[in-house]
Amino acid sequence: MTTPLSKFVLPEGAWQPLYEIAPQARNAYEIVTAPVGVAAARWTQLCEAYAAQRPGRVPLMWPRQGVFMWKGYAATGTGPAVVELYDPREHREAIWTEVRNLDPDQPDDLLRFVNHWGVLGVGNPIMAWRQDLFPFDSVAVMADWVRMRQGVLSAYQALRLRRPRRWAEVANLLGPGFEAGVRSILQNPEAMVTWPLLAEALNHLVGPLRHHVTAEGTHLRPVYALRFLADFINLELWQHVTLGKDFRRCAGCQDAFLPARPNQDYHSEACGNKARQRAWRDRQRTQRTSSRRPPRRPARPKS
Ligand SMILES: [Zn+2]
Repeated sequence: MTTPLSKFVLPEGAWQPLYEIAPQARNAYEIVTAPVGVAAARWTQLCEAYAAQRPGRVPLMWPRQGVFMWKGYAATGTGPAVVELYDPREHREAIWTEVRNLDPDQPDDLLRFVNHWGVLGVGNPIMAWRQDLFPFDSVAVMADWVRMRQGVLSAYQALRLRRPRRWAEVANLLGPGFEAGVRSILQNPEAMVTWPLLAEALNHLVGPLRHHVTAEGTHLRPVYALRFLADFINLELWQHVTLGKDFRRCAGCQDAFLPARPNQDYHSEACGNKARQRAWRDRQRTQRTSSRRPPRRPARPKS
């Protein structure tokens, strides 16, 4: 039911066995917006190390909007209590759809995602310097990361629907490490969304790849290794746009979903049943009210 954008595209699913990702951990997280408890001790240690190494520099700031930490870790210093491992490849569509439907301006929404699937692994501004001391994903960095992918998806959707749109209308491409890549778009905020500019933007969002091998019996199999959940989601984005897929709005709950069949109106069978039941009840109610109309009063016997 999908219309590939080019004849060079691999059939859906053909490339998937090439990609490998380690099982991801499901833990309970919380957003920690300021140094507290054990997190404060670690933070002080980090700041001191920073000041010693880079004297005279502006002191470190706790990441804007906080970081995702294992629940209770900030207070007690003990790691995640519940660890459940899952294979993201078994939940490809669910994860991708959830990213599409996230509200990046709502930290609680991002936290719900992280509690469901784990952190993306997009890091924080300090991580690049001392990952060992501060290995937590920043809320603001995740918000930017999601916002840019949703923006590029909107640009793609506008092109699919042949609706001329300006970049400024569909996407906020101002994100860490991204500005330089799409200078030609950003220098002209009035620039229209075009396929070549979309390709340019996507090329800065979906890479890079690591080439690996795994031993299989007496030979080596080539694999592309994905490190973080973020890489895995990028792969879904890449597949989505090259296969010419479209999200659709569910006729029941109004959420965006990926249809499995061309005539699918509801995101799930349960949602369709619920909507049909609701419609049936509404019909019953209208019928009942019309039949319950008070009977005409019998004519008063003449006295
Ligand atoms: Zn629905």
